[in-house]
Amino acid sequence: MDKKEILEQVKKDNVKFISFQFSDVTGKVKSVDAPVEQLKGALDNGIWFDGSSVQGFARIQESDMHLKIDQDTYAVLPWTPENLRRARFFCDIYTPDDEPFPGDPRGLLKKMLADLEKDGLVFNCGPEPEFFLFKQNGGLYPVPHDVGGYFDFSSDDEAVQVRTKLMDALNSMGLEIEVGHHEVARGQHEIDFRFADALHTADNVLTLKYTVKAIAAQHGLIASFMPKPIFGINGSGMHTHMSLFDKKGDNIFFDKDDEFNLSKTAYSFLAGQLKHARALSALVAPTVNSYKRLVPGYEAPVYVGWAQINRSALIRIPRHTAGQDKATRIELRCPDPACNPYLAFAGMLAAGKDGLDNKLEPPKPLNNINVYKLSEEERKAKDIRALPSSLADALDELDKDSVLKDALGTEIYTAFRRAKLEENEEYRIHVTDWEVEKYLESA
Ligand code: GLU
Ligand code: MG
Repeated sequence: MDKKEILEQVKKDNVKFISFQFSDVTGKVKSVDAPVEQLKGALDNGIWFDGSSVQGFARIQESDMHLKIDQDTYAVLPWTPENLRRARFFCDIYTPDDEPFPGDPRGLLKKMLADLEKDGLVFNCGPEPEFFLFKQNGGLYPVPHDVGGYFDFSSDDEAVQVRTKLMDALNSMGLEIEVGHHEVARGQHEIDFRFADALHTADNVLTLKYTVKAIAAQHGLIASFMPKPIFGINGSGMHTHMSLFDKKGDNIFFDKDDEFNLSKTAYSFLAGQLKHARALSALVAPTVNSYKRLVPGYEAPVYVGWAQINRSALIRIPRHTAGQDKATRIELRCPDPACNPYLAFAGMLAAGKDGLDNKLEPPKPLNNINVYKLSEEERKAKDIRALPSSLADALDELDKDSVLKDALGTEIYTAFRRAKLEENEEYRIHVTDWEVEKYLESA
């Protein structure tokens, strides 16, 4: 939309306030809000704000930041009351010298995609965010909102009503919802929306998360995208499907003559992601809790490998449907919805691109192998590595990976590492319930 169209649309939608949004380095959405009367000026001149206390932006000498509206990202926030209607834009962050701010995760992904476009390519992502709806019980221990299971249908229970409202709201915000369904665990759901280029998709992930939280709260529920909220049952992943299109819109991952219908390009991209998988984990599974999800037994990946049918594989090749060449894709299964989607997709692209640039070839697929049943020696003999078992390990791996670090740039890498080391240290010195139970009397 151009400026004139936006101003007309805002009137039509009866919008009273605008949220100018951006993301910090951990993927938290930040917002500067203004009455709609300020919008025209903001469209012309941007919005100034003090960025010094935003995670990853803390450069005192450069605390003034300039937000420039991305005019493609207008959406009315459907849960806001009619008499105080609010709409949002995502913004690009600039320095006072009018340079793109190198600490802006969204700006980083935008720049990487622009560079890729120079090579005539578009990187598409389609995520499957999972989440829980919990009762607001005021306590620490989460209580799932319903008793349903995988794909369960109950004609009129509250979970279905809430999920329908969520899908309707997200559709109205431009997400093109494809399916919503109950997931394996009690109170667990998944809502999938149509793939798009990585930038739009990352915007959509943030939109989905805050919309689901806001609407759940209106129903007295807590929506949680925590990767493993309850020990002993399935956690929440954000499997991400990926493909590369060329300028004509053809999917260059597709090859009709290959047994999995994948092209050489797709194999090299996949091989790049396997090569960098351990370091990439720090970006796509970036919390202490993420590594409680990546354990055997809950449909989450643990070992680095790929396969067509094996759901425990890190990268899965969804079955090809005749005539659906555009849908040919690879699915990375270690990401979780607590990631910063801009950094996660940036890392996934950098890893895949390294595979392309070096014409890497993947190892054999793990199609008929149950990796969990192999002994450590057998895995070693087959060269099957495990994903990191903790955030600390993942951060060490990332620190050794110059391809991913170069892709992030010093500013973002340093801020990300600082934030994550702090988070990990907080956890490391904490005394958990498990330890007290285990050692209080026995030690
Ligand atoms: N919840 C599982 C995970 O943590 C995935 C279940 C599924 O295959 O959709 O990855
Ligand atoms: Mg799922």
